[in-house]
Amino acid sequence: MNSAFFVGFAIGIVVAVLFAWRYFALRRGLRNLTDQVKNGDKLSNSSRDLSELASVVSAQRSTFNLQLSASDTERSRLSAILDQLTDGVLIADADGSVQFANPAAEKLFGSPLAGRSVAEAIRHHFLVDAWRRCRETGEPQTESVEVPASRHFLQLIVIPDRDTRGGTLLLVQDLTRVRKLETVRRDFVSNLSHELRTPLASLKALTETLQDGALSDPEAGPRFLGRIHTEVDALTQMAQELLDLSKIESGQVELVLRMVDPSALLKSASERMHVQAERAGVELTVETAAPREVNADAARVEQVLVNLIHNAVKFTRRGGTVTLSAKEEEGAVIFAVRDTGVGIPSDDLSRIFERFYRVDKSRVGSGTGLGLSIAKHIVEAHGGKIWAESREGEGSVFCFSIPMG
Ligand code: ADP
Repeated sequence: MNSAFFVGFAIGIVVAVLFAWRYFALRRGLRNLTDQVKNGDKLSNSSRDLSELASVVSAQRSTFNLQLSASDTERSRLSAILDQLTDGVLIADADGSVQFANPAAEKLFGSPLAGRSVAEAIRHHFLVDAWRRCRETGEPQTESVEVPASRHFLQLIVIPDRDTRGGTLLLVQDLTRVRKLETVRRDFVSNLSHELRTPLASLKALTETLQDGALSDPEAGPRFLGRIHTEVDALTQMAQELLDLSKIESGQVELVLRMVDPSALLKSASERMHVQAERAGVELTVETAAPREVNADAARVEQVLVNLIHNAVKFTRRGGTVTLSAKEEEGAVIFAVRDTGVGIPSDDLSRIFERFYRVDKSRVGSGTGLGLSIAKHIVEAHGGKIWAESREGEGSVFCFSIPMG
């Protein structure tokens, strides 16, 4: 009885020891595995029971790593897009505090924007109202405003952030350029129709007068025909100038660049305008400072000079002078056409390079208001600048630069 008890007891002890040993081995194995997972080490386990767990964890870990790196790539792509985006993007949380603003938003509203309230960041009350409406209704909102201080025309689109309750996503588009282009186009069409109306009305009146009998009048007939000729010439010139302008603006005119002597350009432009100046009783002189050669399209730069000299002669009274000069300055040659003419009021000075702009339509000559606009485009196509200084009653000086490059 006793021996049976001891045998049973001994077997019990052995089984208990075996289980305890196995239990502690499993614990050790688990601890090792946990450490390996924690340290990101390669998972290995000698225990057969744990090796299956190790391989499952290992597979999970590589899937997770793959997803993580995909999401990292996605995030850096998104951040590059947001950095380069010309539209401003702001993300606000439920309290209305800006959590993120891309560089374009900071350029529009000033930086830093993160941490500020939306109202502080976007400042304009119409825009803030649109953001509030979006929060209240949960519906996307759009608002456009003109910011008087910066003369920017902005459009705001606010959409609820689906991932954050109460959060919003604000997209700000700067439509200033688009609006400006629309205005320019509208002005152009209305100016053009206005400019065409006057000569067409004259032509109609002149032909009607001829039809009504003036044609057989030996004195009035030729006079009216002469006036018709003048009007048709003016219309032809306008059509030609418009064509030139549109070609230059759309980049269809290719500059034929070569090294040219600025003094030679002044000389040939002055020779072309010599007769006209003489007829107007205006002295046309060339001051030669002999600057170095410029890389330019000689015919086009000469066209600019001719346009400027043409105006200078037109707006200078008999006995006045027009002086042409060229000098070197900071890597460019500055050409100047100076006259002692009627001058330009300071209010008009900034606008004379606009298409069809004429200071006073009743002033001498019947220009189209396109000459300076064409000159500006040609100069800018060369990478230069054109500007004018003037005093009313004392004369004007028109300058333009052509880089020597
Ligand atoms: P236009 O064909 O009418 O001369 P431009 O574009 O050449 O057109 O010039 C625009 C306007 O600028 C002119 O109508 C004139 O009022 C003014 N202007 C240009 N050059 C001069 C100048 N040298 N002196 C005075 N006014 C000038």
